[in-house]
Amino acid sequence: MMDVYSQSEQWSKDQIEQTQLTRLRSVIDRARKCDFYARRLDAAGIFADSLHSRDDLTNIPFTTKDDLRAQYPLGLLCVPQSEIIRLHSSSGTTGTPTAICYTQNDLNSWADLVARCLYMVGVRREDVFQNMSGYGLFTGGLGFHYGAERLGCLAIPSGAGNSRRQIKLVKDFGTTVAHILPSYALILGEALRAMGEDPQSLPLRIALVGAEPYTEEFRQRIEKLFAIKAYNSYGLTEMNGPGVAFECQEQAGMHLWEDAYIGEIIDPETGKTLPDGEIGELVLTSLCREAMPVLRYRTRDLTRFLTGECACGRKFRRLDRIRGRSDDMLIIKGVNVYPMQIEQVIMTFPEVGQNYLILLENQGVADQMRVQVEIRDEYFADDMRVMQQLQKRIANRLRDEILLTPKVEFVQSNSLPKSEGKAVRVSDLRRKN
Ligand code: AMP
Ligand code: ZN
Repeated sequence: MMDVYSQSEQWSKDQIEQTQLTRLRSVIDRARKCDFYARRLDAAGIFADSLHSRDDLTNIPFTTKDDLRAQYPLGLLCVPQSEIIRLHSSSGTTGTPTAICYTQNDLNSWADLVARCLYMVGVRREDVFQNMSGYGLFTGGLGFHYGAERLGCLAIPSGAGNSRRQIKLVKDFGTTVAHILPSYALILGEALRAMGEDPQSLPLRIALVGAEPYTEEFRQRIEKLFAIKAYNSYGLTEMNGPGVAFECQEQAGMHLWEDAYIGEIIDPETGKTLPDGEIGELVLTSLCREAMPVLRYRTRDLTRFLTGECACGRKFRRLDRIRGRSDDMLIIKGVNVYPMQIEQVIMTFPEVGQNYLILLENQGVADQMRVQVEIRDEYFADDMRVMQQLQKRIANRLRDEILLTPKVEFVQSNSLPKSEGKAVRVSDLRRKN
């Protein structure tokens, strides 16, 4: 019997585009049920039947994070309040939060999308799925949980942190699949080693890794450490949460589920659509959400659509690894630097352990950047010259990548602050004036 979740292999390009147009029309109708979109769409002259092709979407004004904040808490609700049964909130730590509500249908279609992702990478109902991400308002908890249950896995809601308990559960219940934040995956591996255990001896075979930016080098470390496959998972609260785009077994970009979301890449300065292959800001429109549809949402995530077809045969376009958010960009001595450029360099050094922190400070009138990196115990040397040479090699490689020479500082394994949720990679202590 063919499983319903293998259907993603069957969609043709035409079928995807037809579905997008039909669903786009109905989402326009639905969005008009809240004042915010009714006013916006009226002003732009957009009605469901004025859309003749999917590309007419570009006439719809963008929705920004500030719009969502201004409509907090329920300004974007398009169904009676009695119909909403769940609420999640995005993980931003500053400013007014944003809240996203779900109807029962929203929760069902979300669980189906997550189940489809899991199925795509080879997860089946016989698997034991351990969700090592925070529950609560963060969508990575319940989102993955219901997806795994929908597929029929045993879902263990182990939550974030507490490495000893995680490892015990993995062993006792034979966990084969884990959802885990990249930063936590390496911390867990080190915790195992510290307990004198071999991370490769666990029954784990697959990790679903996402929710924060990380580099290909980081993925390879996770795969090597546990001898597993790690698949990239992308989502955001405004579009349900996880299950928006996901890597297939080819590990060559994340298929965007275009029957549920329309993706565009725009030039963040001009707002103009960019062709596939060019890097810009990802803009997403949710096609299936009832409670709070969001149209042309500016995610601030920087990526591109990969050109050509995936070897797996799926026709859903693929997003490249997220390079970071446009608001992650650091301006240091006038030079633009993304934290992921730094991670990419330092993670190629085997001496570097699982954690790092970028510190920005004022030094007189100039900015100073320090990169603190944890060094694995076996490489920590008493010989100052050995350590200084390594520091120099790392600093030189960083200079080649970012055109600045940061001060590289070594700290011991496990000494940098750990976060239970998304990792904090930058500490900006510069005076703002
Ligand atoms: P939240 O809605 O709080 O869960 O945050 C969503 C944001 O997390 C996205 O807009 C991205 O910036 C980031 N994110 C999620 N998944 C990934 C991923 N696989 N790679 C990079 N960043 C990600
Ligand atoms: Zn593929």
